Amino acid sequence: PQTSGDAIRQRFLDFYAARGHKVLPSASLVPDDPTVLLTIAGMLQFKPIFLGKVPREVPSAATSQKCIRTNDIENVGRTSRHQTFFEMLGNFSFGDYFKKEAIKWAWELSTSEYGLPADRLWISVYEDDDETFALWHDELGIPKERIKRLGEDDNFWTSGVTGPCGPCSELYYDFHPERGTSDVDLGDDTRFIEFYNLVFMQYNKKDDGSLEPLKQKNIDTGLGLERMARILQKVPNNYETDLIFPILEKAAELANVSYALADDSTKTKLKIIGDHMRAVVYLISDGVNPSNIGRGYVVRRLIRRVVRTGRLLGVKGDGMGDLQGAFLPILAKKVIELSTNIDADVKTRSSRILEELRREELRFVLTLERGEKLLEQMLADALLNIQGTETAPCLSGKDAFILYDTYGFPVEITKEVAEERGISIDMNSFDIEMEKQRQLSQAAHDTVKLAVENGANHAEDIPDTEFLGYNTLHSKAVVE
Ligand code: ATP
Ligand code: MG
Ligand code: MG
Ligand code: MG
Repeated sequence: PQTSGDAIRQRFLDFYAARGHKVLPSASLVPDDPTVLLTIAGMLQFKPIFLGKVPREVPSAATSQKCIRTNDIENVGRTSRHQTFFEMLGNFSFGDYFKKEAIKWAWELSTSEYGLPADRLWISVYEDDDETFALWHDELGIPKERIKRLGEDDNFWTSGVTGPCGPCSELYYDFHPERGTSDVDLGDDTRFIEFYNLVFMQYNKKDDGSLEPLKQKNIDTGLGLERMARILQKVPNNYETDLIFPILEKAAELANVSYALADDSTKTKLKIIGDHMRAVVYLISDGVNPSNIGRGYVVRRLIRRVVRTGRLLGVKGDGMGDLQGAFLPILAKKVIELSTNIDADVKTRSSRILEELRREELRFVLTLERGEKLLEQMLADALLNIQGTETAPCLSGKDAFILYDTYGFPVEITKEVAEERGISIDMNSFDIEMEKQRQLSQAAHDTVKLAVENGANHAEDIPDTEFLGYNTLHSKAVVE
C-alpha cells in the first residue's frame, strides 16, 4: 500500500528526485568523524561539504539514513516516538536552494504527497527568525496561532559540540485538534508528534562556542520514517508500524504472550526488545562488535538489555541445536528479513551477525544467573539497612561495581532493576570504583607492555577492561 514504510521512504526519495535532488545511499552507522560516536543524523556524511572542506558533487541530495541515538535509550518504549535505531529521510542543499524552497517543499510533501490535512500541522520556528515565520504565514497561509516560536533547545540544531549548525523550523502533527489552540505545548507527546526538522545551516560552531558564518547557506533536513509511518498507518506508536511490529510479534511468540492482550509493562518490554534488536543487527552489520569500550559497549549494553528483558518475559530459544538456547539470533533473523529496503548489505552479512549475537548472548547468560541472585541479595540488604530510619534505600557503588566487574552487569541495567524497587544507586562511589579500576588496568597494561617488550608475554593477555564511562556513549550535544 501507499502507506507502508517502504512506500513512504520511496515516495520521499521520488518527490525530491523530481525536484532535482540526487538520491544517495545511506552512510554507515560508524561515522568518519571524531566528534560523534555513531551516525545520529543524515547530515553527517555531508559535513565536509557543508563546511566547505570538499567541493560538492551535486547541488542537492536526498537520502534515507540509518541512525542510532544512544541519548534516546531511556525513551525507548516510554515515549511513543523514540527508538535508538531509526531511519531519517533527508533532503540537502549544498549552497543551492535555501529557506523558501525548503519550506515550500516540506509543506507540499506533507500535504499533497503524504496527504496530511493542512489544519493538523503545526510549525515551530527559532524565536527571533522572523523571515521563517513570514514564509510559513505569508507565503503558505499557516495561521499565526499554529506557528510557535521556540528557543535554542528545540530550534537551533547542532550536529555535535562543534560543526555546522543553524536555526531550524519543525513540523508537528496534531492528533487532537479538538483540544484547541490556547496554552499549547508542542512537546506534549499525548497530542503532538514532531516529524520533520528543517535546519538552515549557515554557521560553523567553533571550539570556543562562537558561530562563524559558512561561505554558503545550506539546507539540512530530517524526517523520521517510523514517525511518518505511525501517522499514516494510524497506529498508536512507532513500534506498531510495519517497520518494527513483526519483530515485536516474534518476541511475543517466543514469550508465549499476545501483544494485543498484553499489559503496558509487557508491551514496553516487547518494544525495548524490538528496538534494540534492530539497533544491534545494523550496528554489527556495520562492523561494531560487542566490547567494553566506545561503540562496542553500546552494542554490548543493548544486547544485554535485550537478554535481560527477554528473560523477564520468559523468552527462551528452543534449547536445542546450535543456538544452545540463545534467542537473539531468532529475533535477528526477523530483523534481517525486514532489512532489504533499509540496507541491502545486512542480508549478505547475516551469518556473521547471527554468530556474533549467539556468542555474546551465551557469554552473558553464563554470568547473568549468578549475578541476578547476587543483585537480589544486595537489594534486599539495601532495604534491610534502612529499616526503621528515614533514609531512602540506596545500593552502594561498591556493590554496583562488583556486579559490573565480576558479573558483566552494565550499571544501567543494575540501575533499572534497582529503580523498579524504588532503590537508587550511589553513582558517585561507583564512578570512584571505576576510576580505581581504570588506574589498576592502566598499570597492568604498562606491566604487560614491559613484559611483551622483554619477550615474556603475549599481547592477548592484556586485560580488556578499559571503560570510557557512560557519558562518552552519548551522541554529544544533540539538541533534544
Ligand atoms: P524529539 O524532539 O522528538 O526527540 P529531535 O528534535 O531530537 O526529536 P531531530 O534531531 O530534529 O529530532 O531529528 C530529525 C527528525 O528525526 C525528527 O523530527 C524525528 O522525526 C526523527 N527522530 C529524531 N529522534 C528520533 C528517535 N529517537 N526515534 C525516531 N525518530 C527520531
Ligand atoms: Mg528536532
Ligand atoms: Mg525536537
Ligand atoms: Mg530528541
